[in-house]
Amino acid sequence: EKIQEALLEEKKVLFSFEFFPPKTEDGVENLLERMERMVAHNPAFCDITWGAGGSTADLTLDIANKMQNIICVESMMHLTCTNMPVDKIDHALQTIKSNGLQNVLALRGDPPHGQDKFVQIQGGFACALDLVTHIRAKYGDYFGVTVAGYPEAHPDAIGTDGLASPEAYQSDLAYLKRKVDAGADLIITQLFYDTDVFLKFVHDCRQIGITCPIVPGIMPINNYKGFIRMTGFCKTKIPAEVTAALEPIKDNEEAVKSYGIHLGTEMCKKILAHGIRTLHLYTLNMEKSALAILMNLGLIEETKISRPLPWRRPANVFRV
Ligand code: FAD
Repeated sequence: EKIQEALLEEKKVLFSFEFFPPKTEDGVENLLERMERMVAHNPAFCDITWGAGGSTADLTLDIANKMQNIICVESMMHLTCTNMPVDKIDHALQTIKSNGLQNVLALRGDPPHGQDKFVQIQGGFACALDLVTHIRAKYGDYFGVTVAGYPEAHPDAIGTDGLASPEAYQSDLAYLKRKVDAGADLIITQLFYDTDVFLKFVHDCRQIGITCPIVPGIMPINNYKGFIRMTGFCKTKIPAEVTAALEPIKDNEEAVKSYGIHLGTEMCKKILAHGIRTLHLYTLNMEKSALAILMNLGLIEETKISRPLPWRRPANVFRV
């Protein structure tokens, strides 16, 4: 089934989980077991990322197939199009089609490691818009096509002050509309930690006539260094209160995780209160924080994952 159809039909709140392909065989085994446990909570769909330039192609295709046909959850495969010959893109699309997957997240991809800018290969695609257009031209309506949206604008449009100019923000939105007009039927957003920024983005999308569902990408903070690295890479705004809460506990991993669950829960509550009906969780291949947030929201049954909230107590109590 196409994911957007389920999202549009269903009245209750839905959620989904994103995973990435692990580096080792043991890692893949563990991930599949974890997925099985998480799928028991009935996500609307799960998705698996694609290494830029096709670096994880075979593994991503294999995991996507297992998700759809062994774990039996509606699955979406990410597919990046830069540094990828068109026949490799078609091979991936044909493979998932023959495995019964109907959902793809069409992306440009980042430049390969160590490169600042990506190089458009001869006869290849330059941006996600080209990939969406290609999928619709070659596969008609078979696929549900999702694209990425950037509540703070794409990092390329963000200046050294950490902000996109109003013009850059608007041109980013107009480009997103072109992706939708070319045939995308669902938007998943880049991670953010300022919920108001996301809500404004949804409003601005609606203003320019983007009508498809816009699903917020929520990344629970699991670990301080990872959070700083990821928000730095994505040029994500960190609200002052998040910095203030994290700084005193940053060396206490357990406290950071608990705070991440608290923050994720509060963000989701606010998003749901504004009428958004689907939450997309970037799991980073971990289950506890994502499930704890969903449990706090009353979206899944109680499990044994509840944890105390050590971040509420003075950090030194937890330094052993
Ligand atoms: P595009 O939509 O092509 O565009 C990116 C930006 O470039 C636009 O927002 C716009 O500002 C500008 N731009 C491009 N073309 C034009 C144009 N013609 N006119 C005007 N502006 C233009 N990366 C991976 O490698 N693998 C993954 O699995 C993966 N999954 C992701 C999932 C989500 C939900 C998100 C948000 C990102 C993901 N990424 C992934 C990262 C993504 O590949 C990068 O952010 C990449 O830099 C942009 O991809 P895109 O599809 O958004 O690009």
